[in-house]
Amino acid sequence: MSGGHPEAAERFLRDEARAAWHDETLWHVRVRRDAAAAAVPEWEILREQAAAIRRHTLAHLGDYLEEFERNALRLGARVHWARDAAEHNAIVERILRERGVRRVVKSKSMLTEECGLNAHLEARGVEVIDTDLGERIVQLRRESPSHIVLPAVHLRREEIGALFHERLGSEPGLEDPAQLAEVARRSLRAAFLNAQAGITGANFALAESGGLVVCTNEGNADLGMALPPLHVACLGIEKLLPRDADLAVFLRLLARSATGQAITAYTSHVHGPRPGGELHVVLVDNGRSALLADPELRGALACIRCGACLNTCPVYRRSGGHSYGTSVAGPIGSVLGAAREPSRHASLPFACSLCGSCREVCPVRIDLPLQLVTLRGRLRGAERTPRRLALRLAAALLARPVLYETAASWGRRALARLPETWWRRTAWGRGRARPLLPRRSFREAWRSRGR
Ligand code: SF4
Repeated sequence: MSGGHPEAAERFLRDEARAAWHDETLWHVRVRRDAAAAAVPEWEILREQAAAIRRHTLAHLGDYLEEFERNALRLGARVHWARDAAEHNAIVERILRERGVRRVVKSKSMLTEECGLNAHLEARGVEVIDTDLGERIVQLRRESPSHIVLPAVHLRREEIGALFHERLGSEPGLEDPAQLAEVARRSLRAAFLNAQAGITGANFALAESGGLVVCTNEGNADLGMALPPLHVACLGIEKLLPRDADLAVFLRLLARSATGQAITAYTSHVHGPRPGGELHVVLVDNGRSALLADPELRGALACIRCGACLNTCPVYRRSGGHSYGTSVAGPIGSVLGAAREPSRHASLPFACSLCGSCREVCPVRIDLPLQLVTLRGRLRGAERTPRRLALRLAAALLARPVLYETAASWGRRALARLPETWWRRTAWGRGRARPLLPRRSFREAWRSRGR
């Protein structure tokens, strides 16, 4: 079993101030989400409708994908199918190469993060500029996003000011968010005007009309779609909605769940290429069909990437997105990562307190705790670790009351005598005070009272 998350989380927690501030910032987003949800009396009905639409869509995904393709082609788009990340990257590269494209602007797309598109294109001489402010910040730092909605939430303003000073030549010491945004805007303006192609993701693809819907707060996707003559939209096959009218449910849930806004500042509808331009839609599987075939985990494909489960998760808030080692972090990232590559992400299903908060906030009602427990069971079934052996020993003791009582009595005495340095060296004891054990067990106390 890889020990990825605990070690990475420990590194994050060494910077206590950052960990505390990260925790507070995301909790604040969660509180805003709660207020936005409470202001909609039919919120729970919307969640139920959204869950039902996603269940129905996933049950008929093949049909809806074909319907989408037919309608997108009718609108003048070209549709490509990618089995995996390598095929996706090769398709995008070919589209760009055939048109002599060397400069690309790209808006937020977790799918392209998942596929490693930037590195693939840059290695082939294509300059890719991320245009979402948070994504641009992490790109300049050569990092991956730490959050699916707030990619640079792990960074302080002064760190961003120093980064812009070093990489974009802004004046030193900038910390004001408006000034920092202005610096980024000025540098991105040139990138937009020089770009030969725009790459975007899509929040939703509409089977009924063949349209795409892209939600942003910065309008950067709109510029990337409207200015260059070539638009390449990359999306996972699960992004389908059957009818255009279904958007009425999802657009009300998405921004409220994500940031507490009623709606994103821009909700852009793309129906075919812009006049004189080209639109290519790349539909990517990359493990989604396998997840769809898994009855216990397929519900994870209903995710609309709002980030609410990250913001509410006490483990995510206290360990940071990079500790997950996946393109999508937090509870949903733990499910997706461990379902796709169990040996690589075996620690992720255990990065969870099972508090259930993610299930409570998820706008499409994914039962993430149940999925994480399912994955734990699968991983545990195959492993031979000290923890597994300890659980076997505990099961044997608990099944034999006399043996249990004797072992507990000895264990209590031994624990009290072991030096503090030993306790501090154990994984459990590193961040916790040693429990003060009572002199007598509950059973002994009970018996001494003659009961
Ligand atoms: S699992 Fe639910 S709460 Fe988490 S990002 Fe997806 S839709 Fe949002």
